[in-house]
Amino acid sequence: STPAAQTGQVVAAETFAPTATGVMMNLGDPELAEKYSTLPADGIGLMREEFLWTTYIHEHPLYLIEQSHPETVVNMLANGIAKVVRAMAPRPVVLRLSDFKSSEYRKLKGGDKYEPHESADLLGWRGASRYYDPKYIDAFKLELAAVKKVRNEFGLKNLNIMIPFVRTVEEAQKVTDIIKSEGLIRSADFKVYMMAEIPTNIILADQFNQFVDGYSIGSNDLAMLILGCDRNNDTVAHLFDERNLAVKRAIRHLIKTAHKDGKTVSICGQAPSEYPDFTNFLIQSGIDYVSVNPDMVKETKRNVAHFEQRIMLDKATGRGLQDPVDYDWE
Ligand code: PEP
Ligand code: MG
Repeated sequence: STPAAQTGQVVAAETFAPTATGVMMNLGDPELAEKYSTLPADGIGLMREEFLWTTYIHEHPLYLIEQSHPETVVNMLANGIAKVVRAMAPRPVVLRLSDFKSSEYRKLKGGDKYEPHESADLLGWRGASRYYDPKYIDAFKLELAAVKKVRNEFGLKNLNIMIPFVRTVEEAQKVTDIIKSEGLIRSADFKVYMMAEIPTNIILADQFNQFVDGYSIGSNDLAMLILGCDRNNDTVAHLFDERNLAVKRAIRHLIKTAHKDGKTVSICGQAPSEYPDFTNFLIQSGIDYVSVNPDMVKETKRNVAHFEQRIMLDKATGRGLQDPVDYDWE
């Protein structure tokens, strides 16, 4: 048949029903924000700050500070963030603050001088552990200054932040104290989230709750750390599976504990992008948002609408959805 474009025939665009569970997307290349903004996503659930550094800045933050270019860094970072946030407005964007591993930082210009050589940098100096460290805190403050600039000077209020790789409750306290003291105050229109990607985040969720507005499950790191299985090691790759019952129990426990204090839970690891069935499990567990890769947004939005309808029908008929495995850990 002749393509519609040639015959001048109008093809109705697919419409996507709103869903109770929000469907967000994970954005990689910030230059693609404009293009992907047309997707039916409810926002960006994960914008990794690392992509902004490798796309727009290319230099190690401590090197730039030593070269006394702090203003330039803040401007470059703020402009990069703003590009994404503006493209998505008014939908919310969650910017995850820096989570480079030391080997990745070393690839940025000048990085060699500041980075330790770690035998397992996935378990090393990354995420929250840098932010309050006297060796890194000035760079962290530049990250926060960029966020402030986007929100207050550019007026883009749909920008929220997320803290990655928080190992202890004390770290959550220290980092959120710094965020506050830099003038970024949690409110109805500014949310501070943390990744739930370390077993401590799950086991002590009742204690983490007070410091954040909610969580986004990092199923990549969480599965690695629950299963004791290096996510980048091909030899044990067959043992790496986010669908393992231990991971599912952890996720359900987190959602339950977070909801007790009115905190939201999202997921931005690869699990729902890779296994659409996993999304059904998450919905049955009461998750608030799922964030998937751009190429999975439409399919996920359709699946979520369909599955939510099935839940309603099953409730109405009293059949009840099957949830055969024991997901409760208490
Ligand atoms: C995760 O750990 O699932 C995650 C989304 O973060 P990253 O893959 O960047 O570690
Ligand atoms: Mg992670």
